[in-house]
Amino acid sequence: MASRFALARPATLLIAAACTIGAAPASAQAPAARALPESTAVILLGTGMPVPNHLAQGPATAVVAGGRLFVFDAGPGVMRQMDAAGLPYRGGAITALFLTHLHSDHTLGYPDVLLTSWVMGRRTPLRVVGPPGTRRMTERILEAWSEDIDVRTNGLERGQPGGWRADVRETGGGVVYDSAGVTIRAIPVMHGDWKHALAYRVDAPGKSVVISGDTAPCPALEQAARGVDVLIHEVYPEVRLKPEDRPGGDAWPRYMHAFHTSDRELGAIAARAQPKRLVLHHIVRMGGTDEELIAGVRAGGFTGPVTIGHDLERY
Ligand SMILES: [Zn+2]
Ligand SMILES: [Zn+2]
Repeated sequence: MASRFALARPATLLIAAACTIGAAPASAQAPAARALPESTAVILLGTGMPVPNHLAQGPATAVVAGGRLFVFDAGPGVMRQMDAAGLPYRGGAITALFLTHLHSDHTLGYPDVLLTSWVMGRRTPLRVVGPPGTRRMTERILEAWSEDIDVRTNGLERGQPGGWRADVRETGGGVVYDSAGVTIRAIPVMHGDWKHALAYRVDAPGKSVVISGDTAPCPALEQAARGVDVLIHEVYPEVRLKPEDRPGGDAWPRYMHAFHTSDRELGAIAARAQPKRLVLHHIVRMGGTDEELIAGVRAGGFTGPVTIGHDLERY
């Protein structure tokens, strides 16, 4: 019995994780429990911040298009929110996962997506797109859970061998998915000290969507958002920004300016880009109200539809 377990030691799993691409045939894919519609929809799975809030899970957004399911970011709660949204999670239902950057609040649900999708019947490698560092993170996650993978594979659960794998593509920007009428493009954005952070634009039948990830005001993102149907953008209320009374709190305004976008700045961006709808999410509140945020966007010059995004809303 010992030799059987020895076949799946962590090092073996790790190497397999790093280089596995499309190993299983499509016919091996178990059917999803729930069918996805052909029409395009955006579902806010999580709109929250690092601070735990049961009403706003960690950042994650689903785009359903052409019968496929694309997930952007994997904040904590992402898999449970897929269930809450009525999205399928069995049989490898996620077509691809796209990470904007590797901040923990955007990736704490990544092990959940990787491993729970396997436990729920995924057989083929999960397609993952993210900035440089995503492959290393993936390898380390799978290594961290190697005992679990070993027991589920070789124990009485009889887990699908290798179903935990990921097919990781790292990118600095450009088209990262283009198939059957759906095109997804990564846009490099400016998120303070991060060398690599991405927004994504999805062009699908009947709808285009831009998801900002975390960014300071960014000309490339503004360009990508021109005329888009839905712009989902992070934000903070400019009138609330001041040094904080804590160690290091004097750098807080500088940090926010370098890493994030204020409501006024976003209003100016949207006034130029003219999205058909602007959805605010991942809001650094600092005590700011919805009314203050909307007023800030208006002060920036945007006069079109603006929505404060909440978990499980659809656009
Ligand atoms: Zn964030
Ligand atoms: Zn971030």
